[in-house]
Amino acid sequence: MATEDIYSAGHSWWSMSTTVSPLSMLMKIPAYGARAAKAPLSPLTIERRKPGPLDVEIEILYCGICHSDVHKVNDDWSSTHFPVVPGHEIVGRVASHGASVTRFQEGDLVGVGCIVDSCRSCPECRAGHEMFCEKGVTFTFDSFDRNTKTWTYGGYSTEIVVDERYVLRLPKGLDPARASPLMCAGITTYSPLHQFGCKPGEHVAVVGLGGLGHMAVKLASSMGADVTVLSTSRDKEKDASRLGAKHFVATKEPGALEAVQGKFNLIMDTVSAPHDLNNQLTLLRNFGTMIMVGLPPAPTLLNTSALIFGNKRIAGSNIGGIPETQEMLDYCGKKGIVADVEVINADQINDAYKRMEHGDVRYRFTIDAASLKL
Ligand code: NAP
Ligand code: ZN
Ligand code: ZN
Repeated sequence: MATEDIYSAGHSWWSMSTTVSPLSMLMKIPAYGARAAKAPLSPLTIERRKPGPLDVEIEILYCGICHSDVHKVNDDWSSTHFPVVPGHEIVGRVASHGASVTRFQEGDLVGVGCIVDSCRSCPECRAGHEMFCEKGVTFTFDSFDRNTKTWTYGGYSTEIVVDERYVLRLPKGLDPARASPLMCAGITTYSPLHQFGCKPGEHVAVVGLGGLGHMAVKLASSMGADVTVLSTSRDKEKDASRLGAKHFVATKEPGALEAVQGKFNLIMDTVSAPHDLNNQLTLLRNFGTMIMVGLPPAPTLLNTSALIFGNKRIAGSNIGGIPETQEMLDYCGKKGIVADVEVINADQINDAYKRMEHGDVRYRFTIDAASLKL
């Protein structure tokens, strides 16, 4: 499909901006995005600001595909502004930076995750929980940018400009393609394992072996937990063991859950589609916690007696702030933890989306951004 400029399609960066920038302050960047809900992704040209004094200009090398990208393109959460350029698992190289940048130099390998701005002064920002900024966080894509007064475009593109406060250092030795999924799948699973006390010897179940699930298995087993994978796909059993799980339950097989009733201290649910939570709660020990990180488009019925008899807890966890994301990257650097990726070109994105909708992912697609260059 022919490349179409977003601004010529009526989504002008400057027409929506109150801090109007001259045309010379904008850069045209090749990208890939969707023009309408459930429409196939295709080439687009977007505009980004030229780096200001505190900005880092990053040449994107790889961008992972998170199921949240798929939900957004499908408008599963009824919140998407089109055209949308997804992508929040970015690894790239610093191409240039503003005069006041102190933490990065040209050529550094860096990451950008889910967050590119926030107010920086509210209690949540000061605590490093920028995703809960009281003035409104700016996510990396499809989020309203307080400065430009436009919607952000994500990592399915060749370049991004980000204030250095939101840029992450990639530890030496991590392969850039395999590190890209750490920026969302990594932090989204690392943060709740910490919050809810994943300890050596504890029994941890991971439900759904996709992008988040496979990172949860790697991270929980690296913390010494005894990990069980609960999967609808029996053919992922060997991989589960290679990733660090000691046990595997094929949840669609009759009677499969009986053997693990009351077993787990923690359950991490990464499933992207509606499913039965009441059955899963029977797998928790008394006082155990089921952590929800999956964001299915439809609500699920909860039988409160499944919680009450056993003092069980159900909790949620939303990505992680910038300091914790850097902590997770440093942890992965020390332990040599990266994702299992299938590197694809831009013209394979639509196929990857279809495969993810059927649970057919091993275990993260990541886009080679060189294939986006015009
Ligand atoms: P993914 O790579 O597509 O993996 C999801 C896995 O869920 C699949 O591989 C499959 O595993 C399982 N699954 C899918 N459909 C299912 C069904 N109908 N019944 C049972 N299991 C099913 O997705 P992801 O990128 O890991 O994301 C997972 C979810 O987390 C998405 O909803 C995403 O939006 C959300 N998310 C949340 C946060 C947060 O901050 N909380 C951050 C990122 C993503 P098996 O084949 O093993 O069954
Ligand atoms: Zn994500
Ligand atoms: Zn704030």
